[in-house]
Amino acid sequence: KEILLEVKNLKKYYPVHAGFFRRKVGDVKAVDDISLTLKKGETFGLVGESGCGKSTAGRTILRLTEATEGQIMFDGEDITDLGGSALRKARQDFQMVFQDPYASLNPKMMVGHLVDEPIRNYTNKSHKALKADVKELLRRVGLREEDYYKYPHEFSGGQRQRIGIARALALNPKLIVADEPVSALDVSIQSQVLNLLKELQNEFDLTYLFIAHDLSVVKHMSDRIGIMYLGHLVEVGDKDAIYKEPLHPYTQALTSAIPEPDPLHKKERIILEGDVPSPQNPPTGCVFHTRCPVAMPKCKEIVPQLKEVRPNQQVACLLYEDE
Ligand code: SF4
Ligand code: MG
Repeated sequence: KEILLEVKNLKKYYPVHAGFFRRKVGDVKAVDDISLTLKKGETFGLVGESGCGKSTAGRTILRLTEATEGQIMFDGEDITDLGGSALRKARQDFQMVFQDPYASLNPKMMVGHLVDEPIRNYTNKSHKALKADVKELLRRVGLREEDYYKYPHEFSGGQRQRIGIARALALNPKLIVADEPVSALDVSIQSQVLNLLKELQNEFDLTYLFIAHDLSVVKHMSDRIGIMYLGHLVEVGDKDAIYKEPLHPYTQALTSAIPEPDPLHKKERIILEGDVPSPQNPPTGCVFHTRCPVAMPKCKEIVPQLKEVRPNQQVACLLYEDE
């Protein structure tokens, strides 16, 4: 399959200043050298605990924040340093759906205008044509035409996320980065919104980068999954491999926490000791070594690189060094 997005050695560091003279004392390494590739039409689930850098990675890839280092290739074009009108033009093709539909929609704007704003920014469509477009989009995301005249506060959380999705779809993008799009919603509503995203993917030919803190949320959505820990991508693989035969000790701990209805396949729950270290002072060597149940002395010194250990499964762990 054709490649839509290729991210190479992406870093996003935030300088930390302290003291009276606000001198720079270090960096928060929010994203520290990640590389990934998305094929057209696939869903890539990016999973990790809060603070692991997954949202920052998504925002950096979409050029909502500047990369510190690395390269972002989108649909054959290097968008890393695009600015001005070239960036504006490229932006039509990649959109974001945000975690919190309450915060991401302007409460003073009518739904019709929230959804048609991106189209107004990019085209000179007549009022009549815009209205027809928006009504069609509203219908498509499961809202009613009359909702055009309402305001965000008149909707439930799930409906507001539908408005956010309609807005993201307005310019017919190729890539949508969905940053925990259902984690602020009631569990009963989550699967409805996930199903909607799945339907829209087929209909609009979308590629998704789906960010989540929980492996069970991305299970039904994703073709492939990447696991992040403290700014690093530690494992990438096809969904089934990640769930059934995870290679990285961190992925093994995450998957052991997913409830398994079949008693024959029950895995022993792996409980990780300690907290995630600060991204300002990440551990040397493998960033996971302070919590890894099978860490070796060399893990404090050598930074493991992501490497293909099985077909379509890459892992960054020194246990697999010789394979
Ligand atoms: Fe554990 Fe070492 Fe592998 Fe890191 S490199 S995950 S510390 S075994
Ligand atoms: Mg986040």
